[in-house]
Amino acid sequence: MRNEFLPLSKPTIGPEEIAEVVDSLESGWITTGPKVQRFEELLADVAGAKHAVAMNSGTAALHVSLLGLDIGPGDEVITTPITFAATVNMILAVGARPVLVDVDRTSLNIIPELVAAAVTPATRAIMPVHFAGLPCDLEALGEIAKQHGLDIIEDAAHAIGTLYRGKPIGALSKATEFSFHPIKNITTGEGGALCTDDDALADRARVLRFHGIDRDAWKRYDVKGVPHYDVTALGYKYNMLDLQAALGIHQIARLPGLVARRREIAALYREQLAEVPGLALPPDSTGEDLHPWHLFVVKVVPEVIGMDRDTFMATLKTYNIGSALHFQAIHLHSYFAATLGYERGSLPEAEWASDRILSLPLFPGMSDEDAMDVVEAIKSIAGGRA
Ligand SMILES: *Cc1c(COP(=O)(O)O)cnc(C)c1O
Repeated sequence: MRNEFLPLSKPTIGPEEIAEVVDSLESGWITTGPKVQRFEELLADVAGAKHAVAMNSGTAALHVSLLGLDIGPGDEVITTPITFAATVNMILAVGARPVLVDVDRTSLNIIPELVAAAVTPATRAIMPVHFAGLPCDLEALGEIAKQHGLDIIEDAAHAIGTLYRGKPIGALSKATEFSFHPIKNITTGEGGALCTDDDALADRARVLRFHGIDRDAWKRYDVKGVPHYDVTALGYKYNMLDLQAALGIHQIARLPGLVARRREIAALYREQLAEVPGLALPPDSTGEDLHPWHLFVVKVVPEVIGMDRDTFMATLKTYNIGSALHFQAIHLHSYFAATLGYERGSLPEAEWASDRILSLPLFPGMSDEDAMDVVEAIKSIAGGRA
């Protein structure tokens, strides 16, 4: 058994990131400034989008996307129950109603036919989540959106580095949100961004992320700045710091390497764990799609493995191996159960998965030996039957 605890995730921070942060600190300019601008240019390029609007979290980017598209009270947004709370919280925060539709139990992505069936005259948008980074069926969702005049806001918190039919996730829909939380594929400490090809949406997002103040207000302290500004909307304090962008500039440069290493570890798991009874493995991408493996989410079949998921996770910990739950189905949380009115039984596939899933350690800094420790622990827990 390994001596050191293997965490679920750990960011990859190199000397370039550290030097860039120090450069910010020494420059006398630590809040939003030239590094954020540079980060936005690099991100727009990688995402294949005309605009990238950086913010201080992915959650902020979701909020601003919904506000920027005038989604609010009386509107419905169709989304998935297998997501982080932020997706649903932000739909509620703008006063709209989240409508949950069930997922495919293998991919854990939303099922387009169920999305189509959930459309009502009040529906304004679809908010798919590319679970673990595996792309949703954007073609089918796009057809539904087109047919009913809906916007698609992609919650791509897991999907920086994902390819859908050879194209990067980033500007394949009206709006795409990324997260740069430390667990995600690249990090700015905390951070996020809205990517879009829509000039008007990008302009509004820049106003909404900074107090509702018209453009480039941060320059007002600069030598070229004008001292006056106008508040044109109810805005928020969602701007990204140069300190954060200092990390992001170098993380973007690392992205291909980070994704390649994630794919190697996922391939090792998929090969080594294939024969373990009572363990269902996540699918890789096919064709021209590319899965960046933000998460490696397995499902335990309690009847076969002889214990429930929570006991399995606790047992893994006794082998010094971390794991996590991404995600308990939204409608099974007490607040959403009280607010949304979905009973247990209403989304059977999501509930089935919610009771069985766990995420195994996966981060680019892991060695093959680390991954093999996970494999050996699982085989041992599974009763040496593998
Ligand atoms: C991480 C995450 C978010 C929120 O991102 P933050 O940057 O932490 O605000 C939103 N949706 C999903 C699916 C996520 O996993």
